[in-house]
Amino acid sequence: MNKIKVMSETLANKIAAGEVIEKCASIVKELCENSIDAKAKNIIINLKEGGIKEISVQDDGVGMNREDALLSFTRHATSKLYKDDDLFFISSLGFRGEALPSIASVSKTTLKTSDEKEGTKIIIEGGKLKLNEPSDLFHGTKITVQNLFYNTPARLKYLKSEQSELATCVLYIERLSLAYPKISFTLTNDEHEVVKTSGSNNLLKTIHEIYGLKVSQNMIEIKASNDDFDLFGYVCKPEILKSNRNHMITIVNDRVVKNNDLNRAINEAYYTYKPDIKFPVVVLKINTDPTLIDVNIHPTKQDIKIGKINELTDLIIKTIKKALYQNLLILNAYDRSPLSKSIEQENIIKEQEATYNQTILPKENTQTSFSFKENDDEPIIKNAEMKKLVLYPVGLAHGTYIIAENEDGIYLIDQHAAQERVNYERNMKALENKQVFTTALLIPITIELSKSEILKLKQEEQTLKSLGFDIEEFGLNSIIVKAHPTWLLKGYEEESIRKIIDLITNGLKSIDRVKFNEKIAITLACKMSIKANMHISFEAMEELLKELCDCDNPYNCPHGRPTIIKFSNYDLERMFKRVMN
Ligand code: ZN
Ligand code: ZN
Repeated sequence: MNKIKVMSETLANKIAAGEVIEKCASIVKELCENSIDAKAKNIIINLKEGGIKEISVQDDGVGMNREDALLSFTRHATSKLYKDDDLFFISSLGFRGEALPSIASVSKTTLKTSDEKEGTKIIIEGGKLKLNEPSDLFHGTKITVQNLFYNTPARLKYLKSEQSELATCVLYIERLSLAYPKISFTLTNDEHEVVKTSGSNNLLKTIHEIYGLKVSQNMIEIKASNDDFDLFGYVCKPEILKSNRNHMITIVNDRVVKNNDLNRAINEAYYTYKPDIKFPVVVLKINTDPTLIDVNIHPTKQDIKIGKINELTDLIIKTIKKALYQNLLILNAYDRSPLSKSIEQENIIKEQEATYNQTILPKENTQTSFSFKENDDEPIIKNAEMKKLVLYPVGLAHGTYIIAENEDGIYLIDQHAAQERVNYERNMKALENKQVFTTALLIPITIELSKSEILKLKQEEQTLKSLGFDIEEFGLNSIIVKAHPTWLLKGYEEESIRKIIDLITNGLKSIDRVKFNEKIAITLACKMSIKANMHISFEAMEELLKELCDCDNPYNCPHGRPTIIKFSNYDLERMFKRVMN
């Protein structure tokens, strides 16, 4: 029986707008998705001039018979949809029968395919059939698209430079490789290999093949599930950050998707582990019942709509946070990657494969792997690894960096960043505490303000009260503070009060109490912390190091900067060439 059936007109209309080819990557995407549907194990994408001159995609999938091959160039022919209802149960990739016909209408398209019983070669140019003849037998399908938009010069102008077209294709193939680790992808441009994955069906190995050693050795495995969703994937340690969101890759039911809610959840999980303008490398596979997914918001967009999205984002945030809490994340001073030798790389890959093989078997968590079931409400032990550390101060450099040591190596600690972290967590705990402690002032503090500032404060009167303030209006241009929250740092009370009032008069609103608390906690933490170029005593250093190790996240200041950098004994020996490998 023919695999391709003509879909009904109603369904065709439901699928909005039809196919829009915007760039070379749109064609690469369509052709690769067809190859995946044809159960290919190897997909080879060859580009010329970034795809502008030629795009060819060859696979070793099931191939087509003569009739299907010809039908694949007819509008609304598709092998994946049979009736309207199917639209709601799509779990295979392609669902638009218009792709191939529309590609063929604006280019010279050559199709060679074989189902191992008969081979077919078809050439279509500008939508017109030029050749249809028997061809040799082989395994799979090869489609070559040349002279894209040759007959629509207006659209040709929309293509970007070769470099830019290539970059989009590469990004797409990288993501597709991560969605399908069991398929080997090869992408070349002008005969130079750009992407190659082995199809090992090992996600971490695929991450290595795409991002290299430095990234793959700094990934933490995560696994979790609730009633509706299964999560699996890898999240990077904060040491590895990128300057854009392109490497936060979310894959829902094997489909790479762009979804703002998912991105926001990932970002939130890394809150204070990284600066706001930096983004992690994350590969997250989400599996769920296809009925919860609406893929058809817009056929050319990768966006989807997910039912029970809040349950999903909660699960993501919880799982990533827990993974970060359970791993030692001290930044290593010594960057292994530039000096790494292939033997070392191979060993690490072998190790990773071993870990991978372990993790697919039901087994206890390894140190860099982490999984849990939604329902187990065991309290998380935050940062257990670092809490075990004892750091001994050695001295202070530039009045800024504490030098410390222990049996494992030497550490540099940014004293301002470290204290900021300690104060931030202290402030947050005080602000989240249901019970509010208030300290009455023997001598009330008078603060001068403009009338409009006083009005803004008045609007937040309840909030100020709930924070532990007792404020009285006083005259026209000033207020009088009679009591303040007890948790304000000793010696910094007045400064802190002024800062909080400042924040509110400058527009900080308590509508979102969590964000409001965060802002106050961070701002005061910075104010309360020793500045660089201040020489603190040995005892103060000891105390600070102890407090830092006890933090939930001791590795970053609340703005996401690192607090501590490690030089391990081994790294030092390597740097001083005491050991040579
Ligand atoms: Zn600061
Ligand atoms: Zn900071």
